[in-house]
Amino acid sequence: MKRSPRFVVVGAGMAGLLSAIKLDEAGFTDVTVYEKADRLGGTWRENTYPGVACDVPSHLYSYSFAPNPDWTHVFSPGAEIREYLEGVARRHGVDQRIRYGTEVTRMEHRDGRWGIETAGGPRDEADVVIAATGVLHHPSLPDIDGLDDFAGATFHSARWDHGATLEGARVGVVGTGSTAVQLVGALVDTVGELHLFQRTAQWVLPVPNRPFTDEERALYRAEPGTMRALRDELSKTFTEGFANAVVDAESPQVKMLQELCRANLENSVADPDLREKLRPNYRAACKRLIISPNFYEAIQRPNARLVAEGIDRVERDGIRTVDGRLHELDVLVLATGFRVDRFLRPIEVVGRDGVALNTVWAKRPSAYRSVSIPEFPNLFMLNGPNGPVGNFSLIDVAELQFAYVMQLIERLAGGGCRELCATEEATERFEAERVEAAKNTVWVTGCRSWYLDDRGVPAVWPWSFDRFREEMAAPRLEDYELVE
Ligand code: NAP
Repeated sequence: MKRSPRFVVVGAGMAGLLSAIKLDEAGFTDVTVYEKADRLGGTWRENTYPGVACDVPSHLYSYSFAPNPDWTHVFSPGAEIREYLEGVARRHGVDQRIRYGTEVTRMEHRDGRWGIETAGGPRDEADVVIAATGVLHHPSLPDIDGLDDFAGATFHSARWDHGATLEGARVGVVGTGSTAVQLVGALVDTVGELHLFQRTAQWVLPVPNRPFTDEERALYRAEPGTMRALRDELSKTFTEGFANAVVDAESPQVKMLQELCRANLENSVADPDLREKLRPNYRAACKRLIISPNFYEAIQRPNARLVAEGIDRVERDGIRTVDGRLHELDVLVLATGFRVDRFLRPIEVVGRDGVALNTVWAKRPSAYRSVSIPEFPNLFMLNGPNGPVGNFSLIDVAELQFAYVMQLIERLAGGGCRELCATEEATERFEAERVEAAKNTVWVTGCRSWYLDDRGVPAVWPWSFDRFREEMAAPRLEDYELVE
């Protein structure tokens, strides 16, 4: 018997909007998207720091069904991406489905349905829940003594304080990840002094970010086929040159990345002392590779200082490093990354028979093919645990995952079964294969990074992107428990 399931999507970021659009296209109209903020856009709403941009080329970091002829740059700024997402949501009518300012706090599977509670708000029920809550979402605050003692403004990069005065100020940035590097390039012209506190040096791949010309944009508008061809070309380059390469530490492409990064360091940094401070002692792409056209140029400006001595503590007037020196600051920015093991938590999720997700994930999060969790039926995650994050356009990842999930949804809606989730056995098998494959990747060649879990195992997809595409093409139903 055909059914018309009710859907709840959690999160109105890139993946949540995708879900709502695709459900709509498939004729599923009973869909509500819950969004805790008052605006859509996910990571592109949360991150408003100076210089925020996507280091995946914009024509690739676009929905395949919504190419955008108007991207201003090869790597467009964050605000432009947020506007793009808003435009796509509007054009597809899914903005109407979003309940803003409504944070989902609890979900429990009872009597075949999900009961959903929101913060101080209404309750809801759903047959199917899509969790599109993001990965790099919950700020990680460093455990540094004295942080509260600082007299000036202190904030995490994803909670930018736009009231803080930067012009002429002495600004400290803690961290050297993708965020900090973008910040340095954007702040150096504005601030009086820029102090970059580096715990670990980074390899930097120099990729120029040029604006598109009016002629190019007009061509993309007039002949959308050229844009599709560009997307395909970018996808091929990215997949072959990067995504498929990093899972094989000995691949020629990884060696080439190393060479390009080394040449960038040698050719761009004049002062030998600074060059050595900036030289990592691990292999390129072991940590998430930094892509920047201007980091080395910015850090060599007269008003920029690289502080490679460890941080001892924060004091009222600035940061004291372990060599005893006080670096006086007016503003302190913590570009210290995210808690990447949260996923849909802190939502309290309770599956069949009272099984709590917090218990199942007590050691670390896991999921069958990053999409489904045993005993949590009809709950599907986009960009969930152990997916191909960090090395590809997460939009492509989410699109492939959703097409896979849609096949499971069709089964539910077609009356083939009432509930489904991955089996315990299939999830354990997947996890064991994943942990084994991770041993070949560049991420375990001797560095600390957010890819690594508490055991030092990369918590990401350890195979090629091609394999991901193949596995997402069709679910293996024998790996699922189907309840009639
Ligand atoms: P991140 O890569 O996790 O970097 C955090 C930085 O903070 C690291 O340099 C880390 O040092 C440092 N740190 C953390 N705790 C510290 C402490 N107690 N003392 C001193 N230093 C400390 O975070 P992120 O830069 O925000 O980037 C996270 C991810 O977001 C990226 O890898 C990327 O996937 C994504 N992102 C993407 C873009 C883009 O353009 N697409 C832009 C920004 C972010 P260690 O290295 O020593 O741990």
